[in-house]
Amino acid sequence: MQSITHTPYDLVVVGGGIAGSMAAVAAGREGLSVLLIEEEGYLGGSLTACGTGPMMTFHAGQTQVVRGLTDEMIQRLVHKGLSVGHIADSTGYTYSVTPFDSEGMKRELELMCLEAGVQLLFHTTVVEANPQKAILSSIKCLCAGNLFSVQGSYFIDASGDADLIAMAGIPYEQGRETDGKDQPLTMNFKLVDVDLQIIRNLMDSDIELFPFLIPKAGLQHQASRLSFSGFQQIMYEGIEKGEITFDRDIVLCFETNAKNEVIVNMTRVLDKNPVKPLELTAAELEGRRQVWELYGFLKTHIPGFEHARMTSSGPRIGVRSSRRLKGLYRVTAKDLLNETIFDDAISACGYPIDIHSPDGAATDSTFLREGGFYTIPLRSLLNAQVPNVLAAGRNISCEFAAHASLRVSPSAGAIGQGAGTAVALAVKTKTDLFHLDLEALHATLRKAGAFIG
Ligand SMILES: Cc1cc2nc3c(=O)[nH]c(=O)nc-3n(C[C@H](O)[C@H](O)[C@H](O)COP(=O)(O)OP(=O)(O)OC[C@H]3O[C@@H](n4cnc5c(N)ncnc54)[C@H](O)[C@@H]3O)c2cc1C
Repeated sequence: MQSITHTPYDLVVVGGGIAGSMAAVAAGREGLSVLLIEEEGYLGGSLTACGTGPMMTFHAGQTQVVRGLTDEMIQRLVHKGLSVGHIADSTGYTYSVTPFDSEGMKRELELMCLEAGVQLLFHTTVVEANPQKAILSSIKCLCAGNLFSVQGSYFIDASGDADLIAMAGIPYEQGRETDGKDQPLTMNFKLVDVDLQIIRNLMDSDIELFPFLIPKAGLQHQASRLSFSGFQQIMYEGIEKGEITFDRDIVLCFETNAKNEVIVNMTRVLDKNPVKPLELTAAELEGRRQVWELYGFLKTHIPGFEHARMTSSGPRIGVRSSRRLKGLYRVTAKDLLNETIFDDAISACGYPIDIHSPDGAATDSTFLREGGFYTIPLRSLLNAQVPNVLAAGRNISCEFAAHASLRVSPSAGAIGQGAGTAVALAVKTKTDLFHLDLEALHATLRKAGAFIG
């Protein structure tokens, strides 16, 4: 089979979401030869391919716990007017939200990769990985009807769904421990021409409509872009009358960088396994059906939405959870709530445990102590079976509940930077990932602006 190059890359990253992009940039800046493979024609993954946003949260109380490359990307967008930066979360749920222009993000991520010398490979799906004697040295890819191979010394699986890990026969788990069910899938959609001043006025006059905001009344005045979560009674009535035919109990919208454009994060597709082909297709179909149902419902019943216009759905249905590596260390919910600072920490996160119920409308939240944060250990990216393959982003080794916190995009980006930096150190010092000099790893991460507690 034809190979893409004569010499192997130091690092091959599979998946160009926020985790894969940050991993590639980190390793590229450290001088490694890096190939980043992405099946779409652009970077950003869930953030650009699933209409997800805003990024939440870079903070734990007043402390910014996600810094480094992921924050640098945001500051570059701010400089170009493509993000308003980190602002108060006016849903009242978490500390900060970071709205962004998704077209701007696609461009900025690729600029960061290109500047770091990363070779991008778009429209390419990794389809096969056969480790030999516990080492993966080559993977099979498909682009435009061409099957070809790619060689590397290290591989990072940042595919979100742990595709590479599964193909390489590395152990993984999926879903809730009790029954294997994942969080629901959601097809987000974007509306323009929403009159958010009407919602702002309601937040002042009728705060009971917005339950999470009640203890933080007035927060909306600190937010240059509005996020809101409310109108439960209207949703209940819609369900009773049969106008809403799926399990969702709250209107949840986030203004993007563009004024009066909102992301609607409300559809809820249950009982579909996102890594089973026919079920994923069924989820897309059901997600789009729900989008159209909600579009009409919001325009009819929610103040300020009368003239709203839908500009995009998806494009792809969003997958919150699927396969997770079974790695050297499995991060637990207890680790999060104990605010654990691991010796081999590579990143930090202050987001609550936010479980969209696999069974229905509810969202089950467990909050860390006010201002509390936890760290992610390098060991949760590593595995014993094929040691030159790492996980990064939402598919690292953790409990279902821990995943419901660490999966958010700032955290995924920070994990990616940690993964890329660890591989760079391994290559440069000719040391395996299990025996890295952790002081050197931390020094390199800190020098690159990362926060590790
Ligand atoms: C509906 C929904 C709403 C969310 N809301 C928020 C929010 O408001 N704020 C927030 O911060 N987070 C939110 N999240 C979570 C967050 O967006 C993701 O968990 C995070 O962005 C994951 O990043 P990642 O890089 O690990 O994976 P992904 O973003 O999933 O990226 C994986 C990439 O790998 C590519 N890929 C997959 N398989 C292959 C293959 N075999 N070959 C080549 N490429 C491949 C994919 O195309 C994709 O680009 C939400 C998630 C969902 C689903």
